[in-house]
Amino acid sequence: MLVINTHVHLGESRVTELAFTEAQILAPHETEGVDVSLVLPIPHTVPDQKAAHDRISRLMQQYPGKVFGVMDESPALEDERYWQEAERCFTKLGFVAVKLHTYLQPVNPVARFATKVYEVARHFKVPVIVHTGPGIPFSLPALQIQRARQFPEVPIILAHAGANIFSDEAVMAAELCENIFLEPTWCGTVRMKEMVTKIGSQRVLFASDAPINAAAQLASFRTIGLTDAQLEDCLSRTALNLFRLPVQS
Ligand SMILES: [Zn+2]
Repeated sequence: MLVINTHVHLGESRVTELAFTEAQILAPHETEGVDVSLVLPIPHTVPDQKAAHDRISRLMQQYPGKVFGVMDESPALEDERYWQEAERCFTKLGFVAVKLHTYLQPVNPVARFATKVYEVARHFKVPVIVHTGPGIPFSLPALQIQRARQFPEVPIILAHAGANIFSDEAVMAAELCENIFLEPTWCGTVRMKEMVTKIGSQRVLFASDAPINAAAQLASFRTIGLTDAQLEDCLSRTALNLFRLPVQS
């Protein structure tokens, strides 16, 4: 069964001091059967992430078909500079999604500066991955309801699906908006099962966030009593459709 890690970070954070390397990202490809990783810059406060995108691009070139990039620029940048980097990421580097970090960038996702993130996603036909969970009020899942309605053609992935404590709210947002998807890193297994039961496996995605979390998160998906078809949706089919990855299932 194909396994796609839809959210894993590369680099060193100037906010949290977390640091993840290329080797750590690739290790679960060898040990856990991960086939594809979508790699994001680690969120930090430097308001220009070009170097981080370039580092991901180099990894993509080294591992074609196994690594794809996700853009993560600060929405605090002037619109023109943000759009320039988006143009570079999506037309030159071949990235497949855009991240909105509501907590470590930080930004109010329903405020004016964040609007360009959803506009970029609509323009380049890629999903938005939004951080939810720690970092309220900006990271509340419910704030994405307004954006999902404003941009119905844009898939919005709630990273961490409310991180357990706000998971009911994340499920509610997904129930209200068909273009909201849930990625349950840092949620408990009971919550993960509930998500698949309530909104369906076609809107729930596997990711690790931290590279070392891949094995644990895969074990969670494999042990919560999903059918084979549901498991395949969560581990790869949903991601293949959403990110339109040029990968054989
Ligand atoms: Zn993350």
